[in-house]
Amino acid sequence: MTSLPHQSAWMTDELRLFRESVRQFVREEFAPHQDRWHEQLRPDAEAWTKAGATGLLLSDVDEAYGGGGGNFAYEAVVIEELARAGIPFGSSVQSIVAHYLRAYAGEERKRDWLPRMARGELVGSIAMTEPDAGSDLLGIKTTARRDGDHYVINGSKTFVTNGWHAGILCLAVKTDPKAVGPKGLSLIVVESAGLAGYRVGRSLEKVGRHGHDTCEIYFDDMRVPVSNLLGAKEGQGFFQMMEQLPYERLSVGVSAAATAEHAVAITTQYVKDRMAFGRPLIELQNTRFKLAECRTEAHVGRVFIDDCIARFLAGTLDAVTAAMAKYWLTDRACHIVDECVQLHGGYGYMAEYPIARMWADSRAERIYAGANEVMKEVIGWSL
Ligand SMILES: Cc1cc2nc3c(=O)[nH]c(=O)nc-3n(C[C@H](O)[C@H](O)[C@H](O)COP(=O)(O)OP(=O)(O)OC[C@H]3O[C@@H](n4cnc5c(N)ncnc54)[C@H](O)[C@@H]3O)c2cc1C
Repeated sequence: MTSLPHQSAWMTDELRLFRESVRQFVREEFAPHQDRWHEQLRPDAEAWTKAGATGLLLSDVDEAYGGGGGNFAYEAVVIEELARAGIPFGSSVQSIVAHYLRAYAGEERKRDWLPRMARGELVGSIAMTEPDAGSDLLGIKTTARRDGDHYVINGSKTFVTNGWHAGILCLAVKTDPKAVGPKGLSLIVVESAGLAGYRVGRSLEKVGRHGHDTCEIYFDDMRVPVSNLLGAKEGQGFFQMMEQLPYERLSVGVSAAATAEHAVAITTQYVKDRMAFGRPLIELQNTRFKLAECRTEAHVGRVFIDDCIARFLAGTLDAVTAAMAKYWLTDRACHIVDECVQLHGGYGYMAEYPIARMWADSRAERIYAGANEVMKEVIGWSL
């Protein structure tokens, strides 16, 4: 008895071809270097320019700005292929930064920054979290004080993905430290090359996602042109984040859904191949039942994320549904991957096995892009 493979309604022939080229690129250009990236705690700089040349970056940004000219479905394909290959590469953070710029930067700056980001010459980071403020972003302490045509920025950020290579940062700052509530918060773009007062700290050693740079960054009387403020006036940062977070949360949901599906696929193959008590593990009823549960949950996740993608493409994905996708899919992906580790036995705990790396890598998705508890608050407030 077999089941027909699921067809996502948003999939097209052009997207299938794009998927093939992304898959080949990831297999040939990223996979062979994973040990070195792991050791150095970041990808090679050339990985970014190669990804740009292949069309992996900014696939859903208009061609006028150097992007691929596609829609979010192209971005979803890139995220899925990286998740399936088990390679945490920061292209979706690159896209998130690009979407902030596209929405709120001036035309001249967009034409300067976005094509360089699409080519991978300029690597983007989101720098919001601080040592004392993560979920509670209104508690950030990094300040930007106006001084003529510049802002003078002081403070620090942590957990900055792509931080080592970052050439352009979307930085959350307090432009009015005395303002109560969200109005004191602004987003300012920082071009880091040769910028006095900008310093990248250490690459943080994480439990997983080792080949992906996550850094601390410091700002010491760093001067940035006033024209780098995102939006027409100060104090818009929090509202801009609220507008952009559904995109980020949807992207994380896409990754989690693909991770769950891939975990089930590789574990199914493993338990067919592995023998115990004279027969393959899949002949044990518990193994079949566990995989049946995992496959069902992964399928429910696929149907849900496909609906979210379709709604995003139609311009109707609301923030609450995006929060549901981020919370539920990352939560279920971790559960499914954990069950799959168990079905692998001791090999599931060995770092050389993909399921073990997926276990460590997927755990972060319940924390970043807003902890899942914060997602439940967002959903709860809507009730
Ligand atoms: C691998 C990785 C990459 C990251 N990349 C980036 C990046 O590129 N840019 C960036 O700015 N940040 C990044 N982050 C930071 C991430 O967004 C924060 O870690 C996250 O928002 C949580 O903030 P925190 O770590 O300060 O935890 P805290 O805010 O201290 O929260 C700790 C825990 O408290 C609970 N909690 C918090 N708020 C609530 C609430 N309202 N209700 C109920 N429970 C709550 C949750 O369980 C939460 O996990 C990254 C983090 C990781 C792990």
